[in-house]
Amino acid sequence: MADINMEGLEPIITDKETGETHRPIVIAGPCSAESEEQVMNTARELSDAGVRIFRAGIWKPRTRPGGFEGVGVVGLPWLRRVKEETGMLTSTEIANRFHAEAAIDAGVDILWIGARTSANPFAMQEIADVLAERRFSNPVLVKNPVNPDLDLWIGALQRLYNAGIRRLGAIHRGFSAYGHHIYRNLPQWHIALELRRRLPQLPIITDPSHIGGKRELIAPLSQQALDMGFDGLIIESHCNPDAAWSDASQQITPEALHYILSTLVLRDERASTENLAMLRREIDRIDNDLLEVLSRRMRVCREIGRYKKEHSMPVVQAKRYGDIMNDRVKAAVDMHMGAEFMRTVLSAVHEESVRQQINILNGDDIKE
Ligand code: PEP
Ligand code: MN
Repeated sequence: MADINMEGLEPIITDKETGETHRPIVIAGPCSAESEEQVMNTARELSDAGVRIFRAGIWKPRTRPGGFEGVGVVGLPWLRRVKEETGMLTSTEIANRFHAEAAIDAGVDILWIGARTSANPFAMQEIADVLAERRFSNPVLVKNPVNPDLDLWIGALQRLYNAGIRRLGAIHRGFSAYGHHIYRNLPQWHIALELRRRLPQLPIITDPSHIGGKRELIAPLSQQALDMGFDGLIIESHCNPDAAWSDASQQITPEALHYILSTLVLRDERASTENLAMLRREIDRIDNDLLEVLSRRMRVCREIGRYKKEHSMPVVQAKRYGDIMNDRVKAAVDMHMGAEFMRTVLSAVHEESVRQQINILNGDDIKE
């Protein structure tokens, strides 16, 4: 691949604009702007919690028709009011020429391109053309495309760079995958780390809300992102998350956000050697792969459970278990792992597989 030339990138946010001097950059606000009251209540609480950049989706890309598609242009004056009353910078997602023009005309400070749009070079070029025509000089952030294609992500960023955008940044929001996973979108951290390696001057903001899809994953994902040296966080926060019109399960109250931010530790990267940091990242990736592999194994076990149920077969077949143990322990020893260690791991995995199959026999199946 040809060298990527993105000389002269400028900071997306200056300390002067936010009154802050530290990493991480924090962007927070509801998934969607729903009403003026919801926007203003959330914004005031976030501002009190120290957040300086507000997000709210005005146009929402829904996977299937019939969902809430955003309030549209009526919501733009609400963002202006947020800016006037709280002094926060405002940001929203744009996906086409119309959105870009309307958001610029309404004085939105920061624009971001969503994951479905960054996967579409025609839409990216259309947006880049509008921003060039309007000589847009404010920050633009590009979410990773839904599919794990780093070149497509870089291509989207390049279109904006070629349109004169210098306050450019990336948002890592994870990648779609078929089936059930711990995450809503698999983080695949190595892709974001590779983006960093190829474009070291490009700020990368992590979106733990869309990676995790659940409230309880926001804190650990945010800490992981900081540990990997990423520059900021974009977190969905709503004054009444349970009542949110979109992405309710991943939104947190401004109070919870404030608490999470206060627990995050910004480790001094220089204190640990770069090699050690890289090896730790490798361990994080491998552990993640291990979890994925285990969850795939459980899925197959559940399939077997359904088959056994249909054919009235017993869950545990002793001979099969014995064979698995012997084969795997021998292989593990060949791979320089202790036999006892492997027996412990296999018996724990087996126990969980049996538990899942028994659930199925008892009629407690899960939708795959
Ligand atoms: C969003 O930020 O609300 C959104 C729609 O995100 P994504 O493009 O990452 O799915
Ligand atoms: Mn969302």
